Amino acid sequence: MKAAVLHGPRALRIEGVRPPDPGAGDVLVRVAAAGLCGTDYSIFSGDRPVSYPRVMGHEFVGLIEAVGAGVSTPRVGDRVAIEPNYSCGVCALCREGNRNLCLARTAIGIDVDGCFAELVRVPARCCWAAPAGVADEDLMVTEPLAVVVRAVARGQVRAGETAAVVGAGTLGLLAVQVLRARGARVLVVSRSERRFALARQLGAEATHAVPDAPLENVARDFAGREGVDCVVETAGTPEAVAHTLALVRPGGRIVLTGLPHEPTPVRFFSVVRREVTILGSMIYQDEFAEAMRLVAAGQVRTRPLITHRFALDEIERAFAAHREPASIKVALRP
Ligand SMILES: [Zn+2]
Ligand SMILES: [Zn+2]
Repeated sequence: MKAAVLHGPRALRIEGVRPPDPGAGDVLVRVAAAGLCGTDYSIFSGDRPVSYPRVMGHEFVGLIEAVGAGVSTPRVGDRVAIEPNYSCGVCALCREGNRNLCLARTAIGIDVDGCFAELVRVPARCCWAAPAGVADEDLMVTEPLAVVVRAVARGQVRAGETAAVVGAGTLGLLAVQVLRARGARVLVVSRSERRFALARQLGAEATHAVPDAPLENVARDFAGREGVDCVVETAGTPEAVAHTLALVRPGGRIVLTGLPHEPTPVRFFSVVRREVTILGSMIYQDEFAEAMRLVAAGQVRTRPLITHRFALDEIERAFAAHREPASIKVALRP
């Protein structure tokens, strides 16, 4: 089979390799559509080291090609979206339901080979049946959507509340739609106006480019009170964290989904004085089914986020396209 094999930073080659054998409890998936994200780029560039050789890629939809011993579902021919993280299942965190926090969690496309290939082996329990009538490309974004479904749930957003989304990339534009589906009014805050028209098409009521005016005033004008009820941060930078604190009202909630790697200064005076709740949200626990339901019901539109499409052979071009300012989600079709 054909696979894009990473041999070291930026050393990516399309190669013919032996297809993996599905072991007990595993399935072999023929990849139909795969998404490229910032994590893949940081692995490709070497910012995030992995053990080489490695096949990257963790956002994908495909057909079951073969099943290993002991697998009753899914069956050969089933169309599935893949939850690309699996936990050990036996530690205290897993047993209490916090499998996204398992210290022995395995990430497909990072710790083991992923979907930038024609075939990929995954545990059967990572497969979610694709709803009939929903296109592969629409389901390709299920993985980042599940991240956002969890983040909005962590923020306990209720109908009629106001929310702000910081960042207008894939996660931000999905967050707008999940918040709308929950009945919230949504303000989008971003460094660039580039995606504001799309954000509005997808349900944002207001947009704001960061340096323009003090965010406190923007949030007050939008919410008609001291700030917004809930802020979902998707940018993963220290500045974005600071923006969440400027936007939120006293007693409000902030959900952080980005992973700022740099130390992030926070004025804890304003957290304590205003009783702000700051929550981390890490990937997903049980949100895949709800993410697919939202797509199938048309409450979340993923297709407008796909800006580029490439064949697997063109993967170098796909990585280059990911860095273009006009790019939101790059799709690969093996
Ligand atoms: Zn991703
Ligand atoms: Zn565990």
